[in-house]
Amino acid sequence: MKYDVIIIGKGPAGLSAAIFTARAQLKTLVIGRTEKSQLIYAHDIYNYFGFPEGIKGKKLLELGAKQAKKWGAEIIEDEVVDIKKGFKVKTSDKEHEAKAIIIATGIPIQWAGIKGEKELLGKGVHTCPNCDGPMYKGKKLAVIGNGDYAAEDALELTNYTKDVTIISHGPKFTFNKKFEQELKKNKIKLKNARVKEFIADKFLKKITFEDGSEEAFDGAYLACGTAGATTFASKLGIELKEGLIKTDENGMTNVPGIFAAGNCMGACRQIAKNVGDGCNAGVSTVKFLKAKDIFMDYAK
Ligand SMILES: Cc1cc2nc3c(=O)[nH]c(=O)nc-3n(C[C@H](O)[C@H](O)[C@H](O)COP(=O)(O)OP(=O)(O)OC[C@H]3O[C@@H](n4cnc5c(N)ncnc54)[C@H](O)[C@@H]3O)c2cc1C
Repeated sequence: MKYDVIIIGKGPAGLSAAIFTARAQLKTLVIGRTEKSQLIYAHDIYNYFGFPEGIKGKKLLELGAKQAKKWGAEIIEDEVVDIKKGFKVKTSDKEHEAKAIIIATGIPIQWAGIKGEKELLGKGVHTCPNCDGPMYKGKKLAVIGNGDYAAEDALELTNYTKDVTIISHGPKFTFNKKFEQELKKNKIKLKNARVKEFIADKFLKKITFEDGSEEAFDGAYLACGTAGATTFASKLGIELKEGLIKTDENGMTNVPGIFAAGNCMGACRQIAKNVGDGCNAGVSTVKFLKAKDIFMDYAK
């Protein structure tokens, strides 16, 4: 099938982009998996504009998809396995063509391989200090990870509590000098140990370690590795910055016709920012294709 634009990812960034491209009468295809959007793990969201009583991530995703479909976007549950210049987008069993692409693939959650982490996600185990940090005012928190990504999360958590420990869960800590100084200044504790299990009574209670010891914590943040890389980017020659997609202020990458939106571009990992990115990439795609003389009858 031929489309004007194919959007890869059906999280808040991809769906927001689709609302703009579909409303501008671009033939839009969105490809992604609902259960792979980080939003599906967000039980109650209290910091997104327009929902003073909060909203569940699952519900917000449903509403976003419904809105994009209403304006004519086609949405399929699938995975893109390859993109070729031109653009040809290959899924598990089909190939689609498009004049423009919006990459909105998010950052997959970096599981640490600790027993209990999946079951307790959102119940004492977290991935986003900005999102759940306010629940832990004055509480005792652990950050699992040994690099700058973990240091950044730990420093962010000091907005809510002074009791933060980074647990390496690896051979040694590898912070850059700037982070090392900031961690010291903020009295963040460092514990060099490998985690065995998160123990809970509905909500996280304690962490056990492979050396047989254990310690009580109110919450733990997973921050292993670095913030995701992008396979498509390397295949298409898209410039990356620290493992994330680099774009100009219009959301366009260095490859004309390929735009990006959401967590895969980095910066603030919040729904509001990602929805905004989707709007930016969607509008820029419309302008880009319009300059190429595609007929558009803007929705009223
Ligand atoms: C537990 C938890 C709680 C949170 N709470 C909040 C909160 O309270 N407030 C807040 O603002 N934010 C919160 N967040 C963060 C928020 O969910 C993310 O910032 C947001 O979902 C990221 O949007 P995105 O569209 O960039 O990526 P995602 O929502 O992660 O979506 C990525 C999409 O890309 C698709 N994809 C990836 N690779 C491929 C491929 N090869 N082919 C096709 N599709 C692909 C996936 O299937 C998925 O549909 C929370 C996150 C978590 C995990």
